[in-house]
Amino acid sequence: MKTILKRRKHLIAIIGVIAVLILAFTSYRLFWNNKTPFREQSKDLTWYGIDVDFNPKVGRIDCQQRTYYINTEDTQITDIYFHIYPNSFKHQDKAVFPPEEMDRAYPNGFSPGFIEFDKIELDGSPASYTIQGYSDDILMISLDKTLKPGDRADIWLEYSVKLPNSPGRFGYWANTYNLGNWYPILCVYDERGWNLEPYYSLGDPFYSDVSNYKVRINAPEDIIIAATGDSINISKNDKLNIWEFEALAVRDFAWVASNKFKTASMTLGDTRVYSYFFTEEGGEKALDYGASALRIFNQCFGLYPYKTLSIVETDFFIGGMEYPGLVMIDQSLYKGDQDDWLELVTVHELAHQWWYGLVGNDQIYDSWLDEGLTEYSTILYYGRRYGQQKEYQKYQDLIHKGKYQLFKIYRLDEEINETIHRPLYEFEDWIEYDSLVYGKAAIMFHEIRREMGDEDFFKVLRTYFENNKFQNAKPQDLYRACQEVTGQSWEEFFNQWLYEE
Ligand SMILES: [Zn+2]
Repeated sequence: MKTILKRRKHLIAIIGVIAVLILAFTSYRLFWNNKTPFREQSKDLTWYGIDVDFNPKVGRIDCQQRTYYINTEDTQITDIYFHIYPNSFKHQDKAVFPPEEMDRAYPNGFSPGFIEFDKIELDGSPASYTIQGYSDDILMISLDKTLKPGDRADIWLEYSVKLPNSPGRFGYWANTYNLGNWYPILCVYDERGWNLEPYYSLGDPFYSDVSNYKVRINAPEDIIIAATGDSINISKNDKLNIWEFEALAVRDFAWVASNKFKTASMTLGDTRVYSYFFTEEGGEKALDYGASALRIFNQCFGLYPYKTLSIVETDFFIGGMEYPGLVMIDQSLYKGDQDDWLELVTVHELAHQWWYGLVGNDQIYDSWLDEGLTEYSTILYYGRRYGQQKEYQKYQDLIHKGKYQLFKIYRLDEEINETIHRPLYEFEDWIEYDSLVYGKAAIMFHEIRREMGDEDFFKVLRTYFENNKFQNAKPQDLYRACQEVTGQSWEEFFNQWLYEE
């Protein structure tokens, strides 16, 4: 009897363990398979968990960051590199703004931004590292052992970041704290090896891989935060609010904080579109432009797969800036007399959610790939929303007769180089960059559309999107999409446009 009872207990215990294991396994599967496509997409991605103490009074944040890096390359890795962009704002003589913009970037005079590390650990032990690069903007961590494909490294960072007093992507001004490119983000490893490019003063000098984020921000209770991803919880701790955000399969995480924000929102399909604003005139309009752009681009390119999209009025002297799930829009466009510009900039930055956000690319070496396509997508919006006449007029005014011809007139006496495809650092100034990478590249897309016809052109955009979303695309991926749809090679066509001097 005794033995049988014992055996039974054993049996019950074993069954219990198996049941727990099955349950654990299924719930794990359920978590990752939870309806939204990027839960499945995101399961083998690098993971960032960042805990932030936000101190607006002194323009500083104190952070603890865990990064689980996964070697997704097919080669062994011996070092890991992070961009530490805040250091690009440290020295006036290495500023990230061109000389002619310095007054607008620092209306109160130059103000430094930087990052300081308190602790850097690798797999639980102090790491061996160096800080390097043009502005001390690269953190290199040496690995104790080589990281084979599929292996993980656990990196723990404690640091504080000082924000400059500046209305740019990264800094604070009268109304908002702008947190773009604020935390250590992994560099991209590709066929060139690690990409360690500095923060150039032209273009959007960024290149990153899609990752998962969980970010918790402790902020004073009067502060409202707009951020990449979904706000999953807000709790109280004394006089602080604790904001928790989750963002899966996104290539960056940005946030904007203000004690003046009001919000308006609407739902489109599975996405909630938010407008954060402090100027009443423009807040509802920005929401209308943004939601319309989302509806049109969903139809034209493929579905925006995230649950949240935020359009944020920002102290931002550069016009607009795209981050995943969040766009910063210059507050001067919200005043009522700038509606046309508010619409144009909002739609442009939203088009970047597809070209840069979902389909990524190297914005330093292949900037036309997202910027030219985004500019032309903006023109498409006018056609879909207001009809062909308006589209034609916008194409002429903004692009053909606009930035492209104006550039030629402006530089009439000079020998101009019309090559679109070159790295950011080979463009002379913003005018040249704008007219070629935005303007001439958009004309190229217009000509492609004329050559292959509307049906094939939109098929190409959908194919390019579908084949490359959540990845970084190369120009060849676009050529391939053209070939896949039309059955003929377009490489020659692209080469003529991109490299013609
Ligand atoms: Zn753009």
